[in-house]
Amino acid sequence: MTPAPDSAAALLAAALPPEAIAPGATIGVLGGGQLGRMAALAAARLGYRCHIFCDAADSPAADVAARVTVAAADDPVALARFADAVDVVTLEWENLPVDSLAFLATRVAVRPGPEVLAVTQDRVAEKRFVNALGLATAPWCAATDPAGVLDATAALGLPAIFKTARFGYDGRGQHRLTDGTPAEAARVVAAVDGAAGIVEAVVAFACEASVIVARGLDGAAKAYPVVETIHENHILARTRVPARLPPGVAARAEAAALAIANALGVVGLLAVEMFVTNDGAVLINELAPRPHNSGHWTIDAAATSQFEQLVRAVCGLPLGNTAAIAPAETENLIGDDIAAWPGLLAEPGARVHLYGKREVRPGRKMGHVTRLLPPPNHPWEA
Ligand code: AMP
Repeated sequence: MTPAPDSAAALLAAALPPEAIAPGATIGVLGGGQLGRMAALAAARLGYRCHIFCDAADSPAADVAARVTVAAADDPVALARFADAVDVVTLEWENLPVDSLAFLATRVAVRPGPEVLAVTQDRVAEKRFVNALGLATAPWCAATDPAGVLDATAALGLPAIFKTARFGYDGRGQHRLTDGTPAEAARVVAAVDGAAGIVEAVVAFACEASVIVARGLDGAAKAYPVVETIHENHILARTRVPARLPPGVAARAEAAALAIANALGVVGLLAVEMFVTNDGAVLINELAPRPHNSGHWTIDAAATSQFEQLVRAVCGLPLGNTAAIAPAETENLIGDDIAAWPGLLAEPGARVHLYGKREVRPGRKMGHVTRLLPPPNHPWEA
């Protein structure tokens, strides 16, 4: 519907390129987790509404959204209604059927699109894509059965890691290979119910790092500064910005992430997780075409948060400044870590975020705290 010329929507749209989606519009978000919650809060700040599509009514995102559809991600009737009710669709979770995104894309703009998801939700497709750009990964082999796992460990050496190709996150679907025996190969394949996977050599990394890239509708892309990530039990525990990396290594990490986002043609966000070795090599580990846990620091310590940047990108607005405005460290509050929250509230300079999850479970991300560290010179003046 064309807004009346004196309406707020018309005034706001007047200054934007014709393809842009003006404030007042509704952004559809696939997934109802904390990433969707923080995206909906950022969208609301800019005057947009969010409609969350998820499989549980009591999800963290549903609590703060204008509208919610509770349905299975492959329900065509619910998807069609959702598409008709929103102005653009994005996602906060990538374990979705590519066919559902393709179906939505016949009715409404889907950013990032199904072709991006097809690459990033399959480790084999993802590693092939990254390697084809001339970027390094851990040495890897596809393995679909115990014989394939044995061939892979013979080629790559031990120790190695078996990972399911699809639907793994936070270490789920990952198994360490240490002895290279047929029994071990059979055990890891059975542990994932025979799902196809890959075997990766274990990387002796100096640190792990992550770069989030925002890429707009016009193809303009901006990288956030590379951050250092510290994982415990395969789950992100802490993020530190700036990363303690030599400037040349940081520049290569950011350039690699930008190259991948551009080659994928992402509209929205792309998180690129990496290993950095002692000799300064950057190996790409994993891609996620959505906001990422390693970018939570941007809410409190960047000029533009990753969530606002997502809204800007998918609505065709100019991207914001990605500079850090202060050094910061984010700590995830996992499981009953949230019991410490009164102390965190009392801590000067600590910014506490809770996700409103009703149930505490071991390994479940319940919130995070970002601590601003003493600033160096102001980066905008650099
Ligand atoms: P992923 O699900 O692939 O992101 O793996 C989760 C975490 O497991 C990573 O952040 C690393 O801490 C660890 N990890 C995964 N793959 C490797 C590898 N090839 N070598 C060493 N550590 C790994």
